Amino acid sequence: MLAPKTLSFLYRGALASCNYGCSYCPFAKRHENYAALEKDRQQLARFVDWLENRPATDRLSVFFTPWGEALVHKAYRQAMIQLSHQPQIQKVAIQTNLSCHMAWIKAANTTKIGIWATYHPGETSLEAFLERCAVLRDLAISHSVGMVGKVAFFPDIQKMRQALPAETYLWINAYQPDKTKPAYREDEIAFLTEIDPLFPYNLGSYACLGARCGAGARSLSIAGDGTVQRCHFVKQRLGNLYEEPLDSLMEEAPCPAAQCHCHIGYVYLERLELEALYGEGLLERNYHLTPAQAHFSQKEIPGRA
Ligand code: SF4
Ligand code: SF4
Repeated sequence: MLAPKTLSFLYRGALASCNYGCSYCPFAKRHENYAALEKDRQQLARFVDWLENRPATDRLSVFFTPWGEALVHKAYRQAMIQLSHQPQIQKVAIQTNLSCHMAWIKAANTTKIGIWATYHPGETSLEAFLERCAVLRDLAISHSVGMVGKVAFFPDIQKMRQALPAETYLWINAYQPDKTKPAYREDEIAFLTEIDPLFPYNLGSYACLGARCGAGARSLSIAGDGTVQRCHFVKQRLGNLYEEPLDSLMEEAPCPAAQCHCHIGYVYLERLELEALYGEGLLERNYHLTPAQAHFSQKEIPGRA
């Protein structure tokens, strides 16, 4: 079997629950029973086992993108610790609300951990969230902080930007509950772009039918039962991770979807050149704006839908 030089797995298991109650989320305060959580645990254990049995010469990255919050569950914390010590794993990243305790992370190989941390005003205090960010900084863990760009959150967004060190990237996800109306006024877009120079990339979606996209070739979406798709958004099944050779599951093909809406998908859309822009911080959305890169925030974004 040919070992892929670099490949990221975006894993989303059966988990679909969260300890927070965000008004904009279908998983808010959703609880699961023991059987559902046990199913997710077993799927996760199988995935970790499969990764641990890959050759040490592989260059693999893992990105947990759960429906809900995973780090409140010990199995996910343990999976991140275990995987971070594997030679074939380059990065193990996760999307989280950062509500879990932080002691676990010291047991990981912190040079390989990536944290995509989202702050949700009203669900926890700014101070409590910032304390956890300080732990990440103290351990030099690659991370980003993000917020949903609700207009009602603008004061909190401002406070967060002022409270975080300048070197911590604060991203903003566009919020448009009514798709028939513009999401923002011009001055609101200007405010959010001042906070996050890459915010214009997140505003709207991309026409992508027939476009070149690295999803499928440099990244694969993995479901709890091993089902492989090129990305979370194209539902065509490429096979099963546990039943077929990895090489046979990868494909370099034009995108078959009409539009790409989500950051974790369009970062692989080649014309946007975002893989190069984020570099090592791609999975955890960690972006370092250097003078040489500053033009990325101003240039016209190609192919907006
Ligand atoms: S923290 Fe995330 S998953 Fe949980 S309710 Fe809020 S948006 Fe949903
Ligand atoms: S452009 Fe978006 S929808 Fe199309 S393959 Fe890439 S990630 Fe998937």
